[in-house]
Parts: sequence; structure tokens; C-alpha cells
Amino acid sequence: MRTLKDLDARGKRVLVRVDYNVPLKDGAVQDETRIVESLPTLRHLLDQGASLVLLSHLGRPKGPDPKYSLAPVAEALAQHLPGVRFFPFAPGSEEAQAAVGGLKAGEVAVLENVRFEPGEEKNDPDLAARYAGLGEAFVLDAFGSAHRAHASVVGVARLVPSFAGFLMEKEVKALSRLLHNPEKPYAVVIGGAKVSDKIGVMENLLPRIDRLLIGGAMAFTFIKALGGEVGKSLVEEDRLALARDLLKRTEELGVKVHLPLDVVAAERIEPGVETKVFPADAIPVPYMGLDIGPRTQEAFREVLAGAKTTFWNGPMGVFEVPPFDEGTLAVGRALAALEGAFTVVGGGDSVAAVNRLGLKDRFSHVSTGGGASLEYLEKGTLPGIEVLE
Ligand code: ADP
Ligand code: MG
Repeated sequence: MRTLKDLDARGKRVLVRVDYNVPLKDGAVQDETRIVESLPTLRHLLDQGASLVLLSHLGRPKGPDPKYSLAPVAEALAQHLPGVRFFPFAPGSEEAQAAVGGLKAGEVAVLENVRFEPGEEKNDPDLAARYAGLGEAFVLDAFGSAHRAHASVVGVARLVPSFAGFLMEKEVKALSRLLHNPEKPYAVVIGGAKVSDKIGVMENLLPRIDRLLIGGAMAFTFIKALGGEVGKSLVEEDRLALARDLLKRTEELGVKVHLPLDVVAAERIEPGVETKVFPADAIPVPYMGLDIGPRTQEAFREVLAGAKTTFWNGPMGVFEVPPFDEGTLAVGRALAALEGAFTVVGGGDSVAAVNRLGLKDRFSHVSTGGGASLEYLEKGTLPGIEVLE
């Protein structure tokens, strides 16, 4: 990838695609992580004497919609950087072109949500050409969007000299270590809702790893595939054969699989609901497994001890609803406690869990890209990486 080292930004107007798809509440930014993560790139370019034009998406609007305006994001960014101005224009419009024409060195223009443009997600070539007119160079720092072949990610990058920003570089460097020459023993913890979401990642990682720990709802598809009784737990009936095939692969490859031994179960997903612990393969109806149990927490901790490389994706239970957050907390703590290991977390909900538990700084890398990090680990590249090569 071409990176910021290769760009002389002095006196240039640089177009930067960031990922400011942040959570909003009552018209204000609720979590600034993605804004803060973009600052090293922006400061580096401003220090060189560039002016900046920022593009981002926010949410999934169907056309222009004030609910998805980047105005509050620009306001939050202005607390960190001087010279930030919000221009309420669709980024492909003539107004936008005119507005950025007057930028001086050190100034930062934030344009409206790229998804207000009908051609954005279709990677419309005319729209990409209009974006290209906004800057003399293009920096892609939106790792979280790098799996999207959209006009503001891939289309524009083909038309102007393009470079990876620092966040993009950091993400690719960390995640590629999970694919290329990882130090062993290498353990992967996978959880979350569905086997079908994670099968590609698991398949690509299997030949590289030593141990696979499976929790979350998707464990029940595996347990049922092995003949266990899972009560009312979430099962993907149409993925039982797939689960069996994957387990066979692990045997062939000598990967040791660890499924939950016990589960915390309840009749409903509700804070403070009465819970019971059952063996993971003997959950009676009407109970559903909603978290890994205490024996599993202990077993997972032991399996993880001594690992030199770890990747974690997917919560171990319904972590949004206490007390079903305990298994996720235990795994988070076990990973955070590993000494001298390269520890990575990726995935929207798993990263949210790590942040909520205050464990972020104790991981080697916490990926800012949910879908993008998983797709990278599945395919070893992304459209937004290829276009910078
Ligand atoms: P990520 O975003 O980290 O990739 P997923 O989106 O795959 O993770 O999964 C997260 C979701 O899985 C959460 O909403 C969580 O409540 C749900 N989940 C985890 N374990 C269970 C379970 N045992 N039963 C039902 N839902 C579960
Ligand atoms: Mg998710």
C-alpha cells in the first residue's frame, strides 16, 4: 500500500475519507473513538501545511435526511482541531466544489454524509469524478469502510494519487499479523449470534491456529450437530451440516476445539430474570443458553493461558443484558491478562464489550472495523487495500 510516507502534502488540498459512522444521541456524538482515531492522520497532514476536505458516511440513510447529518460530528471534531468548518452540502454537489475552493492551509472542511449521494454505494463513476475534483490527493483512513467498493472509498482512489492513512496502516499491520507468521500457540475465540456470519473467518484461520474456542449463541449449532440437547437455545438448523464439516476440518488440521461445558440459561432474555446452570449439551425446554457457565469460563481461561497470539470475535453471551455479560467479561479479562502475547479483538459487538469493560488498553489491537476486520481475515485483502497497492 502507498502510505502517508509517500505523500508530500505541502500546500495541497487533500481529500480524506474517514469513518465517522459514530453513534449519536439527542443530536450529539455519543462515542468519539472513531473521531479520535482519525486525528493522527489529520494532524500529520495539517502540520505539513495542507488543507483538508473530509468525507464520511453516517448510518444508512436512504438519500438526504437531517437525522444523518454530519453536523454534530463536525462539531465534535472542532473540539480537537482548530479550523474545522462544516459545509452542509452533498459532497458531489457544485456547492461543495465551490466551498472547498476557498480553503486555506490549516483549514478543514467537513462535507455532508456521502450516503446522501444516490451514486455512493453504487460506486457511480460520475460521482467518483466529482469527488476527485475536491482534492489533489486522496487519503483513505476509513478502515471500517474499506470492505465497501463505494465511490468515496474505491471509485475516487482510482482517479487521484491515493494513500493509506495511519489508522488504515495500523489496522492492516495488526490484522495481517494474524494471517502471516503468527507466533504460536495461537488461539481464536469466536462467539456471537450466528455461525453463518463467521464461517468464512473460521475457515481461513483454521490452518493457521492451534486452538478454537467457541461460545455465544453459535456454540449451540455445534453442540446440536454433535447430538446435544440445547432446549430453546438459538440454533441455525440449516447450518448443522456445515458445523459438522467444520469440526471434521479441525480434526484433520489438528486444531483443538473447545465448546462450552456448561451454560447459564433462562426462560427469557430479561435483566435480573431467574437463571440456572446446565451442562451445555443437556439444556431442558423451555430454557435457552444465554451465556457460558462458570466451568467454561475457567476452562477457557486455562486454554488461553500461554497463548502467544489470540484473536477474539463475538461475545460469549447476551452481554447487553446482565447477568449474561459475565462470560464475555471473563474471556475479556483472561485475554487482557496474557503476558507477552499479541492479542487482537475485532467485531462490532465484541469491541463494544471490550470498551464497556474498560479493557481496551490491555489488548495489543482493538480493531475499529467490525465487518471490515472480519472480511480482511477471511480474504486477506479488501477493496480499499487493493486500490492503494
Ligand atoms: P460481533 O459484532 O462482535 O461480530 P455478533 O454480531 O456476531 O458479534 O454477535 C453479537 C450478538 O450475539 C449480541 O447481540 C449478543 O446478544 C448475541 N448473543 C451472544 N450469545 C447469545 C446467546 N447465547 N443467545 C442469543 N444471543 C446471543
Ligand atoms: Mg454484531
